[in-house]
Amino acid sequence: MTTSGPRDKCKVGVIHGPELLLYSFPTPHPFRSDRIIPFLNELDKLEKAIGDQVVKIKPEMAAVDRVLLFHDKRYVDFVKEYSNSGKGYLDYGDTPAFKGCYEASLYVVGSTLKLIDLILNGEIDHGFNPVGGLHHAKKDGAAGFCIFNDVAIAIKYLLDEVGLREILYVDIDAHHGDGVFYAFYFDKRVRILDFHQSGRTLYPGTGFEHERGGGEAVGTKLNVTFLPGAGVEEFKQAWEDFARDFLSQSSPEFILLQAGADGLMGDPLTGLNYTEEVHAFVASQLHKLAHEKCHGRIMAMGGGGYNPDNVAKAWTAIVRSLATPP
Ligand SMILES: [Zn+2]
Ligand SMILES: [Zn+2]
Repeated sequence: MTTSGPRDKCKVGVIHGPELLLYSFPTPHPFRSDRIIPFLNELDKLEKAIGDQVVKIKPEMAAVDRVLLFHDKRYVDFVKEYSNSGKGYLDYGDTPAFKGCYEASLYVVGSTLKLIDLILNGEIDHGFNPVGGLHHAKKDGAAGFCIFNDVAIAIKYLLDEVGLREILYVDIDAHHGDGVFYAFYFDKRVRILDFHQSGRTLYPGTGFEHERGGGEAVGTKLNVTFLPGAGVEEFKQAWEDFARDFLSQSSPEFILLQAGADGLMGDPLTGLNYTEEVHAFVASQLHKLAHEKCHGRIMAMGGGGYNPDNVAKAWTAIVRSLATPP
């Protein structure tokens, strides 16, 4: 098992391989795999610079049973059928089917779960799955470019199969992570902190401050919203005002970070003005928390991000922060 406390280096497993590029909607859809190519180039440079602290891990397909930890069988069968024909939409118009979308989605889920297993058995300290973080998908349907929700599946896996007691999920994608947020709204074992552009001005139109969890889970969820134009300063202020106190009440056994890069200035789909400093800041704060509270168990997933240069900057910052001992 990975030891906690200060250390001289941290080893970060990053999912890398051609199977990773299969999750790609047809042009002109904005969620295509070419958006991550500049990141993969930067990763090569980072690997040369910091050596064995970055380990490339081959993508792996999830077993269907794992997908069924969260999704309904009817929906999984529906995706399989549409994947064979490659025609039509999996939702109401954002998420088209493409040939092989079923297998591509199994690779996304399997890769996220593989990193979790490698962290739990101590082969790597932390992980990053660039195509993971598909936070909009629902139990019974696709949404917002997300077919299978690897985050929700990972949470179910950690709670139900691994037997952990509390998971912390932090989401800094510009869009609210509705698929994860509402799936665990009444589950006090899942603490969720979600920063996003206000649902009044952006898809999916959800995620307001008064939504703090339901039933025995009241207080375990927190939405922090921004108006279009908010940047690094507003983000860090909100972290001090809301996140610190919320995180201090948390006793996670595993930390998951959805590190969508669509909040960076110049993203074609959103109105936020972050720089990669937000990603570096959040990753290093949570990295520290992970070593303090849960034997260093933290992994990050990519998510949105539709300006390839921004994606490269934000995710390189994530990997670098996780490789730098807190
Ligand atoms: Zn570490
Ligand atoms: Zn997004």
